[in-house]
Amino acid sequence: MKTIYIKDEELSFAQELLDFIEESPSSFHAVESVKKLLIPQGFRELSFDEKWSLTPGGKFFVTRNNSALIAFMVGQGEPEKHGFRLIAAHTDSPSFRIKPLPEIMTEGHYLKLNVETYGGPILNTWLDRPLALGGRIIQRGKSPFSPQTKLFYSKRPLLVIPNLAIHINRRVNEGLELNKQKDMLPLLTQITEGLQKEGMLMNHLAETLHCLPEDILDFDLFLCESEKGCFIGLQQEFISSARLDDLAMIHAGTWAIAQAKSSLATQVLACFDHEECGSTSKQGAASPLLSHVLERILLAQKKDRETYFQALEHSFLISADMAHALHPNSSEKHDPINRPILNGGPVIKISANQSYTTDAESAAIFTALCQQVNVPVQKFVNRSDERGGSTIGPISSTHLDVRSVDIGNPVLAMHSIRELGGVKDHLAIAKVFSVFYETV
Ligand SMILES: [Zn+2]
Repeated sequence: MKTIYIKDEELSFAQELLDFIEESPSSFHAVESVKKLLIPQGFRELSFDEKWSLTPGGKFFVTRNNSALIAFMVGQGEPEKHGFRLIAAHTDSPSFRIKPLPEIMTEGHYLKLNVETYGGPILNTWLDRPLALGGRIIQRGKSPFSPQTKLFYSKRPLLVIPNLAIHINRRVNEGLELNKQKDMLPLLTQITEGLQKEGMLMNHLAETLHCLPEDILDFDLFLCESEKGCFIGLQQEFISSARLDDLAMIHAGTWAIAQAKSSLATQVLACFDHEECGSTSKQGAASPLLSHVLERILLAQKKDRETYFQALEHSFLISADMAHALHPNSSEKHDPINRPILNGGPVIKISANQSYTTDAESAAIFTALCQQVNVPVQKFVNRSDERGGSTIGPISSTHLDVRSVDIGNPVLAMHSIRELGGVKDHLAIAKVFSVFYETV
């Protein structure tokens, strides 16, 4: 069907997002995917333990734990006058983490894996789906303090969490209660004659990595959706994909900083891990990671701490995390008036009780940026009797004294294994991020 609603450039940018998400089954892979977009544009990795020497226009990034990344382009202006232009998003998504000694046998026939829920997934969406395994594996290194890290992604579906048939669970459609320890364990394999019955996962990992099982000292492995995202709708206007929250914002932010022109302000993209469990890790938004990097950016230009505090005064943070769109079957769940829709443009998130950092002034700044690139903007507030969620903005605010706004593109089914976003919104937010980085 020929459509004029969705432009070719919008569809092709959304396709880039689907490719990016497919390559990013875990926060570790997401950081690699971000690097792949930054390095060809001249960004160079800095190490925390080297002495930095930075000059205006320089493009760099640092990583923490291989699951968080901060990229920046040093501003051409005076930091105490032009400050930082910051975009922050998160690399992690709700999932299930493989526990230590994970193999559990059922009646001598089935081998399933013991898993721990990560963040707040909608549990029933993970049932009956072909699941892959992704994350990192830590191998023995030269010394105990320098183990080797390798990314692991099975790509092909390895596991499944089967539903219980309706015939033996007659009340399933009256509301399904799933126990995280009992009902969410994925089936890995069937025990057959001659098959080694112990250490099967470790053996599989070792085989894939061409090493001995005893050289694998530990792992951070997660279940993930194995089917790539796709477009849905008569006009291909919807994006159906895993991990739109928050890889859509990571992708748009990376694209914007990768192609940004040098500006008077220092442009920064912060990709934090562990938002889904409260951000309180050394690579989360509640750590001093970002504030330390910003201060070092100035110290490495022979500026002092006083300049750093002056620079913060002229800085602005966009905390970018997905927002709830109006649900077609449950419209009563939303605020009666403020009802963002898919493909209606980015959403400013507002909460009187400060679950979001937005205030009238920061909302006005974001609105003006959207208007500058002819992007429509929407507003979200919770129904007054719903608690709603929060995000990295308020957490960052406890560590970084800068003005900020919480925004994100609208999605349906947030935290489902498969979320639904709008094709038009993705290019729209990338344009807003670009103009944000480049406008003085
Ligand atoms: Zn999120």
